[in-house]
Amino acid sequence: MEPVLAADPYGWLATSLQTIHRAHWHRSVQPLEGLPGPVVIAQGQPLVNFASNDYLGLAGDPRLQAAAIAAIQQYGTGSTGSRLLSGHRPLHRQLEKALADLKGTADAIVFSSGYLANVGTITALVGQRDLILSDQYNHASLINGAKLSGATVLDYRHGDTQHLRAQLTQHRQQYRRCLILTDSVFSMDGDLCPLPAILALAEQFATMVLVDEAHGTGILGPTGAGGVEHLGCRGRPLIQMGTLSKALGSLGGYVAGSAELIDFLRNRASSWIYTTGLTPAATAAACRALEIVQSEPARRDRLQQHIHTLTAGLDALLAHPSPHSPFGKRFPSDSPILCIEVTNASTVMALKQRLMAQGLFLSAVRPPTVPTSRLRITLMATHTPEHLDKLLGALAAVAAAEDCDGGMG
Ligand SMILES: *Cc1c(COP(=O)(O)O)cnc(C)c1O
Repeated sequence: MEPVLAADPYGWLATSLQTIHRAHWHRSVQPLEGLPGPVVIAQGQPLVNFASNDYLGLAGDPRLQAAAIAAIQQYGTGSTGSRLLSGHRPLHRQLEKALADLKGTADAIVFSSGYLANVGTITALVGQRDLILSDQYNHASLINGAKLSGATVLDYRHGDTQHLRAQLTQHRQQYRRCLILTDSVFSMDGDLCPLPAILALAEQFATMVLVDEAHGTGILGPTGAGGVEHLGCRGRPLIQMGTLSKALGSLGGYVAGSAELIDFLRNRASSWIYTTGLTPAATAAACRALEIVQSEPARRDRLQQHIHTLTAGLDALLAHPSPHSPFGKRFPSDSPILCIEVTNASTVMALKQRLMAQGLFLSAVRPPTVPTSRLRITLMATHTPEHLDKLLGALAAVAAAEDCDGGMG
């Protein structure tokens, strides 16, 4: 019998959107004007920016702009082809060498985004006969790369190396290769992975490890090399990936590791082979950013000072909340990402709006991105002490508020 078909094959979209709205999960974009920085303009209003990944304040830096402009004048706006065909420029190799230098690895490869770096690398390294063990709070690009690879994927509890060990003990032997995936700095929490313990397990169980340094590169470690350096794991056998689009103020992703690994990826990573090479402008800006990361450690120091100040301030204001405070705990953090738990998704959205009316721009993060709603604050080296005072003042008023439920139904 022929099935009875609905008249409109796209009709389900409206129904789906209604469901998303009802759950307070609907998202939309917010245009910002002007250069990125600690203060941005939205709808003509200046906002102190606590929602950017531009941790070192480099995305608007005149030196990166000048490098990008010079590259455009020399090489044009597009790279015109994939790296293996017509899209390879001397600038790409220069950037890859600089990344390998920073990371202390034999080589590196740049992708068009961090997302593509994860998807391409994971799908190249493992397949149906293999096992992936993945921290439950990993970034979506790791999760989706794992799914696409066709490997068996098991999540382990966040940061829980006992659980990871149990899974390795139970399952490792049934598979050919095994790959552990973890963020170094978890993007929606701000805490670090227990990398030394993970590497010890990896050695014991003959397992590869890919660590995502998207929020570590340029920020953590004595030379700004990232969480791997900060956690004393430089030089260990490891696949380090990251992005050029956060602390490095540009666009693109990379993988750093052994010469064999990088050569293999050039031959097997589809998201590198079948896509256009990074633009000359993005490549040159990232190169300039890496020089600044190395020559201006004071930026990292200032960022660390801001982390101390804000952490102490948040802990003071969360210590004795009013009974009506919408805030729960502060999430443990070792990074410029600081999050405060908020009772539910509609409250966190209302809070974001209220803070915006006071000239503060924060992220409201909700399910399904995270299990519990939270206000997410990211710090920049270029914030001033006054910016932090303003934020703490506004959050203290919220924590002491009498009218939270009425004002934020
Ligand atoms: C941002 C991010 C990525 C993706 O990087 P893009 O260059 O923006 O595609 C990957 N992993 C983590 C943990 C991230 O935060």
